[in-house]
Amino acid sequence: MMVRFLGSDIFRGSVYGQGHPLNIARVWPVIDICRALGWLEADEYQQVAPATPEELQLFHTFDYVAALLEAEKYQQLSDKKMQRHRIGLDNNPIFAQVYSRPATAAAASMQGAKTLLSGEAQIIFNPSGGTHHGMPDRANGFCFVNDPALAILSLLEGGAGRIAYIDIDAHHADGVEAHLSGLPQVRLWSVHEENRWPRTGKAGDVGDGNARNYTLARGADDTALLEIINQHIVPEVSDFVPEFIILQAGCDGLADDPQSGLCYSNQGYWQAVEQILALKCPSMILGGGGYNPYTTARAWAGIWGLIKGENPYETRANADVQHILSSLEWRHRRAQNRPAHWTEQLFDETG
Ligand SMILES: [Zn+2]
Repeated sequence: MMVRFLGSDIFRGSVYGQGHPLNIARVWPVIDICRALGWLEADEYQQVAPATPEELQLFHTFDYVAALLEAEKYQQLSDKKMQRHRIGLDNNPIFAQVYSRPATAAAASMQGAKTLLSGEAQIIFNPSGGTHHGMPDRANGFCFVNDPALAILSLLEGGAGRIAYIDIDAHHADGVEAHLSGLPQVRLWSVHEENRWPRTGKAGDVGDGNARNYTLARGADDTALLEIINQHIVPEVSDFVPEFIILQAGCDGLADDPQSGLCYSNQGYWQAVEQILALKCPSMILGGGGYNPYTTARAWAGIWGLIKGENPYETRANADVQHILSSLEWRHRRAQNRPAHWTEQLFDETG
């Protein structure tokens, strides 16, 4: 089986500014840990360049893409454009690469879709992707570009007839559902925390017809997540017989993450991902939320391990991995008493 890990050095820069929840290292530690474990071969890793403005218009409006370019070039926008596009407002800050960085994540998801269509690889991993809140004409929830939507639309453009989108982020996939859940070729499944921002995706909501939403109460653990995955989502996806699966694997539902009240361990989270991989369908796995750098790096390195047939459930950090993890910076009160497992092993302790 051919697999691909899509990335770019653009994700090595720091962004979003002091005090923003995304001002942490997320993608490069995953790449470096996978390399340090010997899990990432040179021909599996592919560097991606930013998507062009024209490519982004597969989902986004001309005016919105122009505003992102303008914000990057001048590092400011007129009040009117800020108000309309929510760039520079609502925790969607203007930063040095406010166009290039999200456009690179989007390019990876669109490239991944093309690679799946061509059959060159069967599993794609793009941890920079998963920005599921982005809207066609505005930034939303730290998301400037909606790369999952662009991936789905790229698959459709390439002739795909049955696409399953599955989202296990702690937050509802509002941007994807609002614009793609009426398409006959697409089915969406989301499991997320109830009564959490953006507060859409109530249990039983179907969007424009083809979305299925499952919610979990604050404090829900691995058992609750796996019950939804095994008893509902996997059988429903199976019945749909998709040609392609896109899995948004935001890891902000992990217990050590500060942005949700869900309490998964990464072992339960990996089991959920394994259940989707077991469907043996050409798939792309995206990142998404993940606001504790130690937890996010380990969770996503573990996903690549699963894709490669490795065993993250028993993987301890070698000296290089310990060095990568212990050098991560996190200005958060939870980092003051850092538990040993954040730097010494990939897996969380359970029970
Ligand atoms: Zn999230």
